Amino acid sequence: MPLAPEKILSDLIRINSSNPPGNETAVGRYLKKLFADAGLASEIIEPEEGRGSFVARIGSGPKKLLYLSHSDVVPVGDGWDFEPFSGEIKNGIIHGRGALDCKDLMAAQVSAALQLVEEKAPLRGELIITATADEEMGGRLGAGYLTDHHADLIKADYAVNEGADHPIIIDGKMVYFLQVGEKGTAWCTLKSRGTSGHGSIPSLADNAVVKMSRAVTRLHNYRAAVVVIPEMEKLLRELAALCKIKVDRTLGPDQVDALLEELPLDKPFVEALRAMTRMTVSPNAIRGGSKTNIVPDYCEADIDIRILPGQDCEYVESELRQVISKDIEIEFNEYRAPTFSSSDLPFYKLMEELTLDMAGKDALVLPGISTGSTDSKYIRSAGIPAYGIGHMSEGFDPKARTTVHGRNERTDTASLQMKTAFLKELALQYLS
Ligand SMILES: [Zn+2]
Repeated sequence: MPLAPEKILSDLIRINSSNPPGNETAVGRYLKKLFADAGLASEIIEPEEGRGSFVARIGSGPKKLLYLSHSDVVPVGDGWDFEPFSGEIKNGIIHGRGALDCKDLMAAQVSAALQLVEEKAPLRGELIITATADEEMGGRLGAGYLTDHHADLIKADYAVNEGADHPIIIDGKMVYFLQVGEKGTAWCTLKSRGTSGHGSIPSLADNAVVKMSRAVTRLHNYRAAVVVIPEMEKLLRELAALCKIKVDRTLGPDQVDALLEELPLDKPFVEALRAMTRMTVSPNAIRGGSKTNIVPDYCEADIDIRILPGQDCEYVESELRQVISKDIEIEFNEYRAPTFSSSDLPFYKLMEELTLDMAGKDALVLPGISTGSTDSKYIRSAGIPAYGIGHMSEGFDPKARTTVHGRNERTDTASLQMKTAFLKELALQYLS
């Protein structure tokens, strides 16, 4: 009998894979043993010592499905009410770092695969199980390395990964999300130059910090154009209907903001919806000046900009130029295009159907996009449609949601079992 998913999760939590430094190979070795015990080969791809990603496959045939999770976790910090790496299971709760991000997904994927092997399920295709290193620090040593150097190992028709919000409950109905896209990043540094001088006669100098502060204030007041991709339109319409709010036939930019004001949902959720419908610009760091009595001739500011499908550096620059003066330089230093997989593909429909089978016909499944990013950016960029899940069962504690990357991370066994059952059925149906 394969281990229960909660036992696998508990074991995984006990392996400290905080990144930095990572130590993901230890997770890989644990998984390798589980697969070996079931008579299955697997491999660990290690671009740097200790930073391995795990890859295994079951079944054979032309169809290929990739189950993806990441094996690193973020550092724990202080102030936990329990030992972060205990993996303790008590009263149906599994405790510790990684319980929701995302060793639970890993445990569910691995457990589903091992159950299919144990039951000799008639798979006519391959299920590839991959646990990647380094996701929490950008993924270059994990999913990035695999797509660049071992693309054949993870080549698949579709991928299932983390990335969707947990379900929300509206009017007693469970609303599940399937993540179809992630915003891109267009981080840049603005540079202002002036003429230095003595602080006692500032009118003789040209103050670069003052110039930059004007630019930063304008950026803070900038209102980006509302862009509603079809999946977001579906999401907003369905949420409006659930909350009994009437919307026009055309959901134009004005209606989007009016609707967001009206939705009686949690502020963090509504603000995430706002960020899913426009580029966001956040000036987050500023450096300039050296001494109280010297007028500074140089200042720079780092701007976090997140873009939607259809937007790129050129778009960002033209928008910024409308707001800030010409003498401020714009230098892009980190660009990653948004990634997107259509909700029109049959595999999406299958995921939607199976979620409803599990959650009951009263539930709802909606597409969503993430304001941040996961390893799916690499997978989608390699041409594989990827979808994120955040499935939890009805009795889950919504407060646990905020423990991701925070203190007291935990999940419940019922949700883990639901996730496992969903992934098992999905692989079975797609591959047979
Ligand atoms: Zn994660």
